[in-house]
Amino acid sequence: MKDRAMYDVQKIRSDFPILGREVNGKPLVYLDNGASAQKPQVVIDAITTAYRDEYANVHRGLHTLSTIATEKYEGVRAKIARFINAPSEDHIILNSGTTEAINMVSYAWAAQHLQAGDEIVLSIMEHHANIVPWHFLRERMGVVIKWVDVDANGDLDPAAVIAAIGPKTKLVAVTHMSNVLGTVVDVKAICAGAHAKGVPVLVDGSQAAVHMPVDVQDIGADFYAITGHKLYGPTGSGAIYVTPERMAEMRPFLGGGDMIREVSRDAVTYNSAPMKFEAGTPGIVQTIGLGVAIDYMMGIGMDAIAAHEKDICAYARAQLDGLNWLNVQGQSATKGAIFSFTMAGAAHAHDISTVLDKKGVAVRAGTHCAMPLMEHIGVGATCRASFAMYNTRAEVDALVEALALCQDLFG
Ligand code: PLP
Repeated sequence: MKDRAMYDVQKIRSDFPILGREVNGKPLVYLDNGASAQKPQVVIDAITTAYRDEYANVHRGLHTLSTIATEKYEGVRAKIARFINAPSEDHIILNSGTTEAINMVSYAWAAQHLQAGDEIVLSIMEHHANIVPWHFLRERMGVVIKWVDVDANGDLDPAAVIAAIGPKTKLVAVTHMSNVLGTVVDVKAICAGAHAKGVPVLVDGSQAAVHMPVDVQDIGADFYAITGHKLYGPTGSGAIYVTPERMAEMRPFLGGGDMIREVSRDAVTYNSAPMKFEAGTPGIVQTIGLGVAIDYMMGIGMDAIAAHEKDICAYARAQLDGLNWLNVQGQSATKGAIFSFTMAGAAHAHDISTVLDKKGVAVRAGTHCAMPLMEHIGVGATCRASFAMYNTRAEVDALVEALALCQDLFG
């Protein structure tokens, strides 16, 4: 845990080379972190070193380079376990990110345990990665998706989620932090209530793990997914924490090398977990890069990052709420630094983001892979400014200034 006074945002910024560049002749103000975060030099260097000096395939080789690559790759499992306070690295399945993780749970666990008419409870503010794999089960097996709405502030009431659990409910799958509204969900209460009814819980930690300390044991999740590229690591990296009970209930997802013990003409036996769920050549370098990104974040301290972002969030909230022509979606008291908004008048989110880009401000525009939520809140598309550990109050000001230009143009 680091002292908040020690948080040197300019030093952190200097660790991310891209933040020094200009876009359209203006200093880059990168506020698209919810989609993907920038990478510190240590991660870029780690990727270069892994390819230039230490590259070989993992696990199968006895030669020096394969041993180095394997040790580095396997070492990341323990780093991730520490990062989210998993009891052991054996609970960590490495993968390419949350999309793969939830698809794996859908095939490896849910498809084995659910039958036609069984229910999966989802919140309305899930990312498509935590919706479409369950639609697959609906289409193929007749599984029923039960939706729990958020209230007018964008809060998800744990009691409403627990109340939606009926005798046929076999899984609750919820986000820890909305990628559209910024709402942080009380997943611990949801896990406790669901477990009291004998129902496991999958938590999508893609956004939350970037912004706050995560303790999967305290939360009590059965499955907790994180995605590397949002954690300042490479694309194509990620992991899912699975409890031993659920891991034992899972069938292998993808088949191939590494996940087997023996293969013959007539039979196959599988490796022990978690390797049993990691078929084929993995994202070796990506995962090594993720390990370095996690070291970097933990070096700064997740409490310190959370405290910094809380300040940025409060400042941005005050500034944006002060613009009476801006409609910010989601007013939860737990809101983290993710702001989706529309403008009064006819301006489309795409037009706003194009004007912001001319001012060097990068935001996302669209439906943010959350169409059921957009339908629920009654907007077609929004702009989204999502902040990270390296953003500053001055960048909030730059956003507000660029928005004022939009208002002049379109208002
Ligand atoms: N869940 C949430 C809440 C997200 O924000 C995202 C990415 O935007 C995902 C899941 C999917 O992550 P990935 O595309 O890295 O698999």
